[in-house]
Amino acid sequence: FRGRKLECRIIPFENRRQILVTHDATDTERIEAMRRDFIANASHELRTPLTVIVGFLEIAMSDPGLDVATRTAHLALMTEQAQRMQRLIGDMLTLSRLESDEFPLKRERVDVRALVQSVAAEANALSGGRHTIDVEVDGPDVMGSAEELRSAFANLASNAVRYSPQGGTIRLKWTRGADDLRFSVMDCGIGIEPIHISRLTERFYRVDKSRSRETQGTGLGLAIVKHVLLRHGGRLVISSVPGQGSSFTAVLPNTSLPG
Ligand code: ADP
Repeated sequence: FRGRKLECRIIPFENRRQILVTHDATDTERIEAMRRDFIANASHELRTPLTVIVGFLEIAMSDPGLDVATRTAHLALMTEQAQRMQRLIGDMLTLSRLESDEFPLKRERVDVRALVQSVAAEANALSGGRHTIDVEVDGPDVMGSAEELRSAFANLASNAVRYSPQGGTIRLKWTRGADDLRFSVMDCGIGIEPIHISRLTERFYRVDKSRSRETQGTGLGLAIVKHVLLRHGGRLVISSVPGQGSSFTAVLPNTSLPG
């Protein structure tokens, strides 16, 4: 029991004997600590944009004669911060829905070709044509939630755009593995040092906070991807070479249908 936290209770039993009941509380404590961390992180992430908005509102109240150009610039900055809060709240709600038993997975036949094409179109719009996006669909359709898989794949593709320099090539590939189905996103971007890789799917974990924020990241994208894949009985495999690029592969059980 070294390193574990045990809670003990003594219960009286017949003939003046007693029973010692022990309960291993290590996991409960760990989950409680994770919950506390999440609340602290989320509060901090929401407070930052709110502080900016309140600051500009105070300026507007104290200086009613502010010129139109300055006022317009302040409004634009406030809108940006409000949108950041909207993205954060949207991602937090998505995560809690993915974890809740009240929203069981709705399985349907997913037209993977159409899904991957639309994810590519969205990534292309985000890139503004500054990246080349290659698509290869060489596997069967899959059973799952089209909406959830779409959000997982789109998160991976948008990360590839956001963490790659202009002019880079991004490959989106759907293939059949030996006994599974795989959606891979490969980029020639900044890459990730090995020490970070196992932590990337933690909520709010970012290698470079300022780059994530500059590119409108919430720090929750890969946590969403992980949960979507877990619900589908799958997993995320990450490999990367710093300075050369990364590959994120969503591995799903082979639930393809004939025909
Ligand atoms: P974020 O909103 O910060 O992008 P994610 O959960 O999507 O949050 O990703 C977590 C972190 O993983 C990012 O902040 C970034 O440091 C790193 N990361 C994700 N995808 C890539 C990628 N394709 N290349 C390099 N780093 C990446």
